[in-house]
Amino acid sequence: MADVHVPSSLDEVFRLLDEEPSARLFAGGTDIMVRSFPDMRERGSFLCLERVDELRGIHGSATEVRIGAAATLSELIASPVIADLFPLLREALRHVGAPAVRNMGTLGGNICTASPAGDSLPPLYILGAEVELRSLEGRRRMPIGAFITGPGRTQLEEGEVLCAVVIGKEQGFNFHHFEKVGQRKAMAISVASLAFGAETRRDGTIVKARCAFGSVAPTVFTSRLLNDTFAGNTLNTAVLDRAAAIVREGVSPISDIRASMEYRRQVAGNLVMRLEGAGKDR
Ligand SMILES: Cc1cc2nc3c(=O)[nH]c(=O)nc-3n(C[C@H](O)[C@H](O)[C@H](O)COP(=O)(O)OP(=O)(O)OC[C@H]3O[C@@H](n4cnc5c(N)ncnc54)[C@H](O)[C@@H]3O)c2cc1C
Repeated sequence: MADVHVPSSLDEVFRLLDEEPSARLFAGGTDIMVRSFPDMRERGSFLCLERVDELRGIHGSATEVRIGAAATLSELIASPVIADLFPLLREALRHVGAPAVRNMGTLGGNICTASPAGDSLPPLYILGAEVELRSLEGRRRMPIGAFITGPGRTQLEEGEVLCAVVIGKEQGFNFHHFEKVGQRKAMAISVASLAFGAETRRDGTIVKARCAFGSVAPTVFTSRLLNDTFAGNTLNTAVLDRAAAIVREGVSPISDIRASMEYRRQVAGNLVMRLEGAGKDR
């Protein structure tokens, strides 16, 4: 049988990791238990992070919000701070699985799984989120786009723990939109998703825009060319046509049991076209 440790402080986590570097971290367990169930009946150690206080909570400074990696998705959805400052993230989290999954699943787990379909990832890219990693050696911080290096791959090193996600308070977006296409409305991993944030003038002209797509490339797909296409324009059909062409050209989806490569490419462009009727003021 596997050993499961439930430390209550980061010091204890690092001590246990020092003693047993091969111990596998988990928080809500909603990803790892699905993948590791056969191992649970074999040998090896698992280290549960859910009771580590330093990894919980949402704390604000003058300029940033620090979200503990073990904050559950439900906690984030219920948080007035997230609703007020990062409604795009909240909207995306509402699309993860179903309530039971969101009650157990954590933001840190969603990030470290590094699935191209992770629903928190496109908004976190748009918001310029950074991850804070800690180990016995110290602490480092990097943009989420640098942390995730491929499907299921991150920069996390042995002995390191993702402690927090840090997001700047000043985003300047007054228009946001998240849409996910899956095989069902709930409990569905995305076939393609789009997170969009923009600063617009009263007349709807876009000052700046950021787009990020899930499930259509090995990691979240972003494109400066695409973002620049929106600047100085309204979300009119001609602009969206151009943007959709850039997206379909730029993405590199795979075919799998959920959808074909061609379908994902088409849908990614369609998600952009649908911006014309979407969005809301904060
Ligand atoms: C039925 C079902 C439906 C789902 N639907 C969706 C969906 O619609 N959208 C979606 O994005 N996901 C979905 N998921 C996946 C999963 O629920 C989420 O990715 C969730 O956020 C994972 O969080 P967790 O805390 O449960 O991760 P865990 O399973 O605990 O951990 C996942 C991985 O992250 C690592 N890890 C966790 N926390 C840390 C940390 N602090 N530091 C370092 N490493 C860490 C673990 O070692 C493991 O490799 C679904 C899962 C299930 C079972």
